[in-house]
Amino acid sequence: MTKKNRLIICGGGIVGITIAREAALSKKFSEIRLLEKDDNLGTHSTTRNSGVIHAGFYYSPESKKAKFCSAGNKLMREYCIKNNIKTKRCGKVVVTRNQKEEEILFELFDRGKKNGCDLEIFKKEKLSEFESLALTYKNFLWSPNTWSISPHELLICLIKECKSLNVNFMTGEKILTAGNDYIKTSKNNKFYFDFLINTCGGYSIEVAKIFGIETNYRLLPFKGLYLKSSQKLKKFKRHIYPVPDMKQPFLGIHTTITSEDYLKLGPTAIPVLSPENYSLFEGLDFSLSKEILLLQLNLLANNEFGFRDLAFREIQYLIKKNILKKASELTSENLETINFKWHSPGIRAQLFNKTTKRLENDFVLINKENTFHVLNSISPAWTCSFINAKEMISIICEKIKT
Ligand SMILES: Cc1cc2nc3c(=O)[nH]c(=O)nc-3n(C[C@H](O)[C@H](O)[C@H](O)COP(=O)(O)OP(=O)(O)OC[C@H]3O[C@@H](n4cnc5c(N)ncnc54)[C@H](O)[C@@H]3O)c2cc1C
Repeated sequence: MTKKNRLIICGGGIVGITIAREAALSKKFSEIRLLEKDDNLGTHSTTRNSGVIHAGFYYSPESKKAKFCSAGNKLMREYCIKNNIKTKRCGKVVVTRNQKEEEILFELFDRGKKNGCDLEIFKKEKLSEFESLALTYKNFLWSPNTWSISPHELLICLIKECKSLNVNFMTGEKILTAGNDYIKTSKNNKFYFDFLINTCGGYSIEVAKIFGIETNYRLLPFKGLYLKSSQKLKKFKRHIYPVPDMKQPFLGIHTTITSEDYLKLGPTAIPVLSPENYSLFEGLDFSLSKEILLLQLNLLANNEFGFRDLAFREIQYLIKKNILKKASELTSENLETINFKWHSPGIRAQLFNKTTKRLENDFVLINKENTFHVLNSISPAWTCSFINAKEMISIICEKIKT
């Protein structure tokens, strides 16, 4: 007898695991398998990020990011509280350095209101009531729901819950080929599915190709380096962010407080050659690096979307003192007096759109028959993971009904 509604999820990061949980809770699937190529779950951007539950005011109101982030923020905070995951309810201030940035600050406020965020804008004089160490030009934004948690702690909790719901986690299983209703993996296993969801992060676009999906996107990965204080610091009360360059999906070097009270500076956005290329040769994937290098050289030559300026600016952050200098624009605290160490970097699996010649700013979901492909799961996909999982499973449940 064939089993009905067998679900396979490829990719064991936060996006895949929250979908597995939601699928199990729905009780609509006879079998839920999650296949991960590595020996452990969640070892890539899922646990190599800032651990900041974003509020959702950066994104243009018609985007999927805007639709998901504020609701995702609420769901993730509620999940953490319910499951006793340690939260740092610090909130964040967004500050400016000049008049031009003031205009962006008001645009962010406007977006935030349209996106349903709890957000306020105040005059400089009030800043010390929120964060006495922050600096601003004339005004600042206050976002009370931007909290921190430990991505590791969340991951462990989710895995435990999924196991109790009978999700079958299979590690060391890299998807290599596929037929209409089956996939084959690196362990030479063949698994049949009725629905398949590709949540392979930086490799999603490659996995989509296995299913015959060709897109106008190319992977253009950027490395996020951090400096982390060697000791816990109680004097910073809030995250301090600059206003971002609205044309790019990166937020600029900022200061964050971890759930364990360490101070982090970063992350950078340094171009790298593969989705797991954490240091010079570590994680270098030669099957992708040539194409990525050619794209980077082309973008450098033509400075499309300001790539050359971005690359030269970010490369200087390979030197510690340049990160300290940049972060010092946000605070009156002398950061040179704090001992910082390099912290494990993460890689932003950013997509470049060959047609528009721009970075794709939004999440991308492609559906082909009974397969679904989550592409460009860049920040704030971690914050959005619970709400994204709900949406994804409701789309599949609709298909099951018909
Ligand atoms: C530096 C940095 C800081 C960030 N800060 C934040 C933040 O503060 N807040 C926020 O909301 N977001 C943040 N993000 C974004 C967030 O981390 C990502 O959006 C999120 O982790 C994406 O999760 P994922 O599950 O899609 O990807 P991943 O965690 O990369 O998981 C994908 C998984 O798929 C597996 N895989 C790949 N190929 C295959 C295959 N062929 N077969 C089987 N498995 C495969 C991989 O091994 C991996 O485990 C940040 C990202 C970075 C890089």
